[in-house]
Amino acid sequence: MNKTEFKQSFSRRLAEKFAMGVTDASPNELYQTLGSLMTSAYSQNWQQTWKDYREAEQKQAYYFSIEFLPGKMLKSNLLNMGWLDLVTEGLSELGINLDDLAEVEPDMALGNGGLGRLASCFMDSIASMGLPGNGNGIRYKYGLFKQRFVDNYQVELPDEWLQNGNLWEVRKESKAVDVRIGGDVYMSHDEFGILKPNYHGGMILRAVPYDTGMVGYQNGTVNTMRLWSVEISPEEEERYRSIEDRRAVEDLTSVLYPDDSNEAGRKLRLSQEYFFVSAGVQSILRYYKQLNKPIDDINQYIAIHINDTHPAMCVAEFMRLLVDEQELGWERAWNLTQEVMSYTNHTIMAEALEKWSINMMKSVCPRIYQIIEEIDRRFVEEMTGVHDFDLIQRTRIIQNNQVHMAHLAIIGSHSTNGVAKLHSDLLKSVVLHDFYLIYPARFNNKTNGIAMRRWTQLANPALSKVLDKTIGNSWRKKPSDLRLLLNYEEDDQVLDMLDQAKLENKARLANYIQEHYGIKVNTHAIFDVQIKRLHAYKRQLLNLLHIIKLYLDLKENPELPIEPRVFIFGAKAAPSYHYAKSIIKVINETARLINQDTTINDKLKVVFLENYNVSLAERIIPAADVSEQISLASKEASGTSNMKLMLNGAVTIATLDGANVEIRDAVGDENIAIFGLTESEVYQYYENKNYSSAEIYRENAVIHKVVKTLIDGTIPNIFAEGQEIFDSLIKYNDEFFVLRDFEDYCSAQESVNQAYQEKRRWLQISLRNIANAGRFSSDNTVQRYADDIWQIEPVFAHEDDRGVTQHDSYLL
Ligand SMILES: *Cc1c(COP(=O)(O)O)cnc(C)c1O
Repeated sequence: MNKTEFKQSFSRRLAEKFAMGVTDASPNELYQTLGSLMTSAYSQNWQQTWKDYREAEQKQAYYFSIEFLPGKMLKSNLLNMGWLDLVTEGLSELGINLDDLAEVEPDMALGNGGLGRLASCFMDSIASMGLPGNGNGIRYKYGLFKQRFVDNYQVELPDEWLQNGNLWEVRKESKAVDVRIGGDVYMSHDEFGILKPNYHGGMILRAVPYDTGMVGYQNGTVNTMRLWSVEISPEEEERYRSIEDRRAVEDLTSVLYPDDSNEAGRKLRLSQEYFFVSAGVQSILRYYKQLNKPIDDINQYIAIHINDTHPAMCVAEFMRLLVDEQELGWERAWNLTQEVMSYTNHTIMAEALEKWSINMMKSVCPRIYQIIEEIDRRFVEEMTGVHDFDLIQRTRIIQNNQVHMAHLAIIGSHSTNGVAKLHSDLLKSVVLHDFYLIYPARFNNKTNGIAMRRWTQLANPALSKVLDKTIGNSWRKKPSDLRLLLNYEEDDQVLDMLDQAKLENKARLANYIQEHYGIKVNTHAIFDVQIKRLHAYKRQLLNLLHIIKLYLDLKENPELPIEPRVFIFGAKAAPSYHYAKSIIKVINETARLINQDTTINDKLKVVFLENYNVSLAERIIPAADVSEQISLASKEASGTSNMKLMLNGAVTIATLDGANVEIRDAVGDENIAIFGLTESEVYQYYENKNYSSAEIYRENAVIHKVVKTLIDGTIPNIFAEGQEIFDSLIKYNDEFFVLRDFEDYCSAQESVNQAYQEKRRWLQISLRNIANAGRFSSDNTVQRYADDIWQIEPVFAHEDDRGVTQHDSYLL
C-alpha cells in the first residue's frame, strides 16, 4: 500500500460509512473510518493465523487473566501493522492530525494496574514473537472507575468505555457456550454404571465471546484476546422477565471489581471467576475435539496459564470436563490437568492471597467444589507418610472452612513462577516454602517485562528518533541492541540530543499540566515521578514526607541550594480503601499549600494528575527525570513502571525490592540511587519484633518536625486524614517502616539532587539506563514462558528470519 492508495481508500470508506467528506467529519467519524480500514486489512491475517495454527497442529497457549489493560489500540495497531508513518503522513495531507483521532479512543481499562498491564504487554509480545498464544478474560461493561478530585478527595465516576462502540472487537455468537452458576448437584450412576452429576436449579448463563485481534509487530501474526460477556440464553428468556432478574444476570460482567466489603459483592466476584474460567476452558476443549486427536494427547496441544489465583478454578473445571463429560478416569484426567496448567504468583502479601468460604463456593459452583474436595482428599492421601502431618495440613487446599486458591493452582499445575528474582526466591524460602519442600522442581522465576514498542516507539517519538540517528533502527525489533548506545556515553553531541528529547517531552507534559490544572511548571526543574496504584506498601507517604521536609527547609532557608523540582503523582485508590484515599487527600492539600506559597517560588511544585491510566502513563513517562520505586523491600513482587521509566531515561531511586534489584544489576550502583532496609533486614524486624516507630519519632528531631505537620495545622483541611495517617505511623507502629527508611531516603534524594547539578554526568547516567533496558523487553519474558513452561513454538510461516513472509503486508 502506498500513501495515495491509503488516502483514496480512506476517503472512500468515510463516504461509504458516513456519507461525508473529510472536512465535514468529526474526529470520532474519522477515527471510526480509520479503524474500520485497519480491521478489514488485518482480518485476513487474523483468519490466516487461526488457520495456520489449526493446520500446523501446533500447541497453543491460553493466558487466563481476570484483568487486561491494553489502553488505546489505534496507534499500537498502526505501528504493528507497519502503517504508522504512512498513515500519519497520508492523514496530514488530508488536513487531519492522527493524534486528534487517537484522542477519541477511550482507554480499554479492564484492569487495575500492573497485573492487567502485564497481561496486555504479554499479548503484544506473544503475537510479536509469532507465538501461538491467546488471551482469555472478561468483557466488563464498565472499565476501572474514572478518578476525579473534588475538594481534593478522590471521587469515582463510571467508565462507560463502550458507549460509542468498540471497533476492535468481534462478537462471535456462534462460539457462545453455556455456564451453570448456582443450584445443587448430586452424583448417581447412569445406565452404563458411570458416575454422573445431576444438576438442579441454578442458572444457565450464556457466555458470548468478543474477540479482539492482537496484531504482532510487522510479522503478519494476529492472535486473539477472547473476552466473555454474559447474556440470557434464548431458551431461558421466559425465566428472566423482570428487570431485576435480568439485571442480576447482566451484573455478572458489568464491573471490574465488585465491592468486596459485603457478601453479595464477594459472591459476584467468585461468579465472575467461574464464569470466565468455565467459558474459556469449555471453548478450548470444543476446539481440541475438532482436531480429532485422542484426548490423552491434549497436553501436547494445549497449555493453560493461570495469571494470579483468580483463574485457579481452571484446574477443577478442566477436571470436570475430562471426568464428567469426556468420561476419563480420575488419574488420567489429573495427570493431563497438571501437565496443561501453569500458574504465576504475583504477591507475597498474606492478605492478598485469595481464599473463599466453602459455603460460598458450594453456592456458586457446587460441582467444582466437589471436585476440589476430591483433589484435596487425594492430595492428603498421597502426601501422608511422605511428609509430616503439619506440613500437609498447612498445604492442603481446604482448611478452616476455606478454599485456598493458590494451593489449588500449585497442586493442580506443573509450574509455579514468581515475577522477579527476589520475589521467586521469597516464594521458595518464605511464602510458599512448604510447597517448595513438596514440589521443588515446579518453582521457577520469570522476571516481568514491558512491551518496548508501546513504551518507546509510541510513547516517545523524540527519543526514538535520537536512537535511530545514533545506533540505527535495529533496536526497534531487537531491544538488546539498545546496548549499542553505550558506545556514545562520552559523545557530547549524543548526550545533547538526549537532553533535547527529554526537554521536548517535559515541555509537552508541562503544557498538559498547565491546560488541565492551571499550574505552571518549570521545564528545567527535575521531574520526579511516582505513578502506580495507591497502596500503603508502595509508600507514596514516604515521598510525601520528603516533600514536606524540603518545604520546611525552604521556609527556613529560602536560599537553600536545591535544584527546582516538580513532584508528579498519578494513582488511583481502591474505592473501599479508606487509608489510601486519605493519603490522596493529604498529598493534594500539601500540593495546594506548596504551589500557592509564593515564597517557595519555582523551587517546588507538586502535581497530582487525575485518572492515572495507560494513556496518562504514556504522557508522563517520557518526561520523567526521576523514577520513584520506593516500596518496602519484599513487598513489591516485581513492578513494571520501574522498567518503563528506566527505558525512557529516568534515573531510579529505589529500595532493593522486586525487579529494582535486577535494574541495579543491569546499570550498576553508580547509575541508580538505592536506599533503605533490605528484605532480610525487614524480616529480621519481624522476627525480633523490635521495631518502634514511636521511638524514632521521639528521638529524631527532623522526623518529629516533619511528621507533626500532619496534625499541627501546617497543612490545612486535613484534620481527620492527617490524624489517621499520623496514628498509622506513631500509634500503630508504622507497618511499612516509613520512618525507619526516611533518613536514608532523604540522603538518596540529596545524591540525586547533586547528580542533576552535574549535567553531563546526569545525562550519562540516563544514557546508561536506556542502554541497559533491553533485557526487560516482554518479548524476552514471553519467550522464556514459551520455552520453559508452555512449550510452544512460533508457527513457521510467520517467522521472518526464515524468510517466509507471505502474510507480512496488510492489504486494503
Ligand atoms: C505499568 C503500569 C502500572 C504498574 O505500575 P507499578 O509501578 O509497577 O505498580 C500500573 N498502571 C498502569 C496504567 C501502568 O501502565
